[in-house]
Amino acid sequence: MKRALITGITGQDGSYLAEFLLKKDYKVFGLTRRTSTVNNERIAHIQEKIELLQGDLLDQSSLSEAILKSEPDEVYNLAAQSFVKTSWNQPVLTGEFTALGVTRILEAIRVLNPKIKFYQASSSEMFGKVTETPQKETTRFHPRSPYGVAKVYGHYLTLNYRESYDIFACSGILFNHESPRRGLEFVTRKISHAVARISLGKQKTLELGSLDPKRDWGFAGDYVEAMWLMLNQNEPDDFVIATGENHSVREFVNLSFEAVGIKNWEKYVVTDHPDHMRPAEVDYLIGDCSKAKKKLGWEAKTSFKELVKMMVKADLESEKDR
Ligand code: NDP
Ligand code: GDP
Repeated sequence: MKRALITGITGQDGSYLAEFLLKKDYKVFGLTRRTSTVNNERIAHIQEKIELLQGDLLDQSSLSEAILKSEPDEVYNLAAQSFVKTSWNQPVLTGEFTALGVTRILEAIRVLNPKIKFYQASSSEMFGKVTETPQKETTRFHPRSPYGVAKVYGHYLTLNYRESYDIFACSGILFNHESPRRGLEFVTRKISHAVARISLGKQKTLELGSLDPKRDWGFAGDYVEAMWLMLNQNEPDDFVIATGENHSVREFVNLSFEAVGIKNWEKYVVTDHPDHMRPAEVDYLIGDCSKAKKKLGWEAKTSFKELVKMMVKADLESEKDR
């Protein structure tokens, strides 16, 4: 039985990856940080089948301890301060978690067992102000937020430990991926949640920033398979994971309202709200995942329309019962 340790198991991707690895018959361990109230909602349904270990990306010895206890064949580093907007308010903390956290885990692997395979959750935010379209593995980085900068550090550190110590370390450059488990502050879930509530008469307006930015949005459930595929190749490598299609925030809003049968959505939506504008915006992301398709045999299965419908439907169901 293979063993995997997932950091960030309480997050969106961590929960889908844990489900995926359980289906592959892995023994799954998850790193969780201590909180005053338990926040395990996303993994509540599988909690009996996995083992949680306490630790924090800020605390070197807790990471080493988690690796010693779990004896993993594979470590998936999904933990991070993952919200771009917060990274301007908390740039130092973002650097500590999202950048230096990668060094702490890789150091623990190097010292304790360099045979452990390592996956780093890199991001299309590294492309930021894009220098070519579509973006691929070789596209130059131009991050536009402290989050994007921290992810560039994590990406290069992963490559560096591969080159320096021969660790099987892969960086997955994932474009935005969403699901009904996406955090409520991200634009997709904020929209699906608000639209469900508006249609049920529980909310009057939806305040957003700019509706113009375009993202290559996929379904998180599809993307976790790519993480596993990367660690199960003969050679470690880096891969862009994306759908190859992009859509504007406006299109997401439009389709979400359409899903609940509301046509004149403009009267419910406040745009360019100052609280949701960013000091530097990433206007246009679209990924070219032909390398992943060729080498991993991976491609996205869920369409943009299916994703929007899935998210609105899930929020409608949970909001009806509240
Ligand atoms: P989430 O924000 O849903 O989950 C983040 C996880 O990290 C949570 O489990 C959180 O724990 C944990 N975490 C945060 N800080 C620490 C810390 N100091 N020590 C230990 N654990 C910590 O993110 P996603 O699941 O969406 O994303 C997974 C990874 O992929 C992240 O690294 C993200 O930056 C990256 N990524 C995501 C993309 C996306 O579109 N979703 C795109 C590209 C990259 P807690 O529950 O306690 O807060
Ligand atoms: P990101 O791509 O990781 O920053 O994911 P987000 O879901 O946070 O944001 C996607 C895009 O939606 C960005 O270009 C944001 O500026 C834009 N956006 C517009 N209004 C909002 C909003 O109210 N909240 C968030 N989170 N993003 C918004």
